[in-house]
Amino acid sequence: MADAVFAAQPYAGISTFGRATHTTDLTGVDVAVLGVPYDSSTSYRGGTRFGPRAIREQSLLLWGYNNAQHVAPFRSLKVVDYGDVDVVPPDIKATHAQIELTASRILDAGCRLLTLGGDHSISLPLLRAHAKKHGPLAVVHFDAHPDTWDSEYPQQPYSHGTPFKRAIDEGLIDTAAYFQIGIRGPTNGPQDYADAITLGARMITLDDFRTRNLADVCAEIRTVVGTKRLYVTLDIDVVDPAFAPGTGTPEVGGLTSYEILQLVRGLRGLNTVGFDLVEVSPPYDHAGITSILAANLAFEFLSLWS
Ligand code: MN
Ligand code: MN
Repeated sequence: MADAVFAAQPYAGISTFGRATHTTDLTGVDVAVLGVPYDSSTSYRGGTRFGPRAIREQSLLLWGYNNAQHVAPFRSLKVVDYGDVDVVPPDIKATHAQIELTASRILDAGCRLLTLGGDHSISLPLLRAHAKKHGPLAVVHFDAHPDTWDSEYPQQPYSHGTPFKRAIDEGLIDTAAYFQIGIRGPTNGPQDYADAITLGARMITLDDFRTRNLADVCAEIRTVVGTKRLYVTLDIDVVDPAFAPGTGTPEVGGLTSYEILQLVRGLRGLNTVGFDLVEVSPPYDHAGITSILAANLAFEFLSLWS
């Protein structure tokens, strides 16, 4: 589409994702990119509220053609930048309600949704909206952390450490096809991983990943997910802080940029119904390297649909 072909210089103009048209008119739209500038449920370093804006800014450098997937997603799909969810910083339930409402509006219009966070708590209302439309979903969850705690704070069931526990409790995830990939780092004890596995997560820790090859991991995902409807959630802290320092709870010894690109490309052909990319914190970034990676990962997501 003409308005997503990059006529202007990448450093000129106003930043929408990939220079897609900013509109909430979903007529004829294939994919809506949605920002969720919310970071009130982070447990350590904040700043992910600035993630969507930084990723959009870096996305202006994306050229249109994907040489790894051999597609030009901005040409073959009608992509719009829907803007940001109207978040409520002191009220996570109100924020989640706003996210679910906006996501459902987009999905009900027959569009697919690519969401840029924001902290990882936002995946819960996104999964609610997608599961409402599609039923329980296969999930590929890239993260250094399982995010399956029952709570991080007394009487607080919602935060960025709990979304997948809540999602499983609510029946949003098909636990026969729920992958956690890249898990690593110190925890409170062995119970954190054991609890995730008991809930049904098929955990491929970073150590597991290192002892296998990438093709083998991708093959397992493809076999287990099969033709199921798949939701993909990518916490940027799955990537090593040497490649992605701009995040709130960094864990050393993670994936390289190239490995996460290849893992995402390995999902090609699966029945993916939604993506989110979370936990980019620009105040802790350096030279934009984390948001550049995030913009490219979002481009790989779009390319999977192309
Ligand atoms: Mn994480
Ligand atoms: Mn996470």
